[in-house]
Amino acid sequence: MNSPHYLISTDCRITVSATNAVIYDLTRETFREISPAQGQFLLTLHKTKVEEWKECDEIRQNWIKEALQEEWIFPCPETFLSSFPGLDFTWKSPSKLSNAQVESEILSQHIVHELDLLGTKTIQVLLHSKWTVEYIRQLTSYFKDSTCLSIQFIMPYKEEITNIDDLEGIYFENPRFLLAGFYSAPFDKVFKSKSSNLRIFFSKLPFTALYVPTAGTKTSFVVNYESFREAQQHNLFFNQKLAIDKRGDIKNSISSSKSWGNIHSDNLSQVVSTQGFQQLWRANKDQTLICQDCPYRYMCTDERVPQLQDNGIWAHESDCTYDPYSGTWNSEHNTLKHQRSNG
Ligand code: SF4
Repeated sequence: MNSPHYLISTDCRITVSATNAVIYDLTRETFREISPAQGQFLLTLHKTKVEEWKECDEIRQNWIKEALQEEWIFPCPETFLSSFPGLDFTWKSPSKLSNAQVESEILSQHIVHELDLLGTKTIQVLLHSKWTVEYIRQLTSYFKDSTCLSIQFIMPYKEEITNIDDLEGIYFENPRFLLAGFYSAPFDKVFKSKSSNLRIFFSKLPFTALYVPTAGTKTSFVVNYESFREAQQHNLFFNQKLAIDKRGDIKNSISSSKSWGNIHSDNLSQVVSTQGFQQLWRANKDQTLICQDCPYRYMCTDERVPQLQDNGIWAHESDCTYDPYSGTWNSEHNTLKHQRSNG
């Protein structure tokens, strides 16, 4: 009566497509690709009696052994089965925005304050070519009383950048300055300071390669509880994101051509609250053509802007670097994004 059953671990989620299957390990924040047959078999194992599988063939025996070793599954006495009801994957956020990109020409204390009122956690400032260390220091002063958790500056490389101590000096004045990124640099390099939390990257890529919308790639996948929850109903790239360009246009991302209002004439909070502005936030991958058949759909931060079809399904005008029907990647695009994510 109390024979053990196999259960899939609560923090392990399995997605299966025709050509590939993916195990999301939400606690270790990693993922593993396995064959669709193995993925389907692991799903079948859930809540079945251990003794049912004692006589199964060698391939399945090995899959069970591996799943036990990797802690994807575990044997559970029958009387305790109801002790593992599964997790609630409803996503909620106490803030309206998580991430804002603002071109430096328009940044002001007023905009920082407006973004704070929306609960924005990360504010990324995009600097023009005439930036100086003093200019960054001046912009940082707008954040003196800000409640955001991370301030980032992205700027074109200049040869005068030989000493990063100046940037560290700004960090010590405002420890929420956590990232400085230089694009169009003559080299790729990442500095992580030993004495501060400031990270500095140099990338050979131009701005357009860093921020042009591209589809998901393995190196930009995000695996954790929060993003898995979020991806059930939302688009992992656009959800709670906002951009303000140097003209003051309020957009869903800096590369987007659609403006939903202007900071000079519209109230930021009201623009962000509109159905239109938030439409892309809800463009989840389960309702997007092709992506809905992809096993990476709950970790993918695809930056392409999808279009809503008459039937309520989203679709993209350009192809992704991954084809879930053949299970193949376009390696050229992956290399580009790999440089960016390591940048
Ligand atoms: S097919 Fe869609 S979900 Fe899959 S990797 Fe590409 S963009 Fe992401």
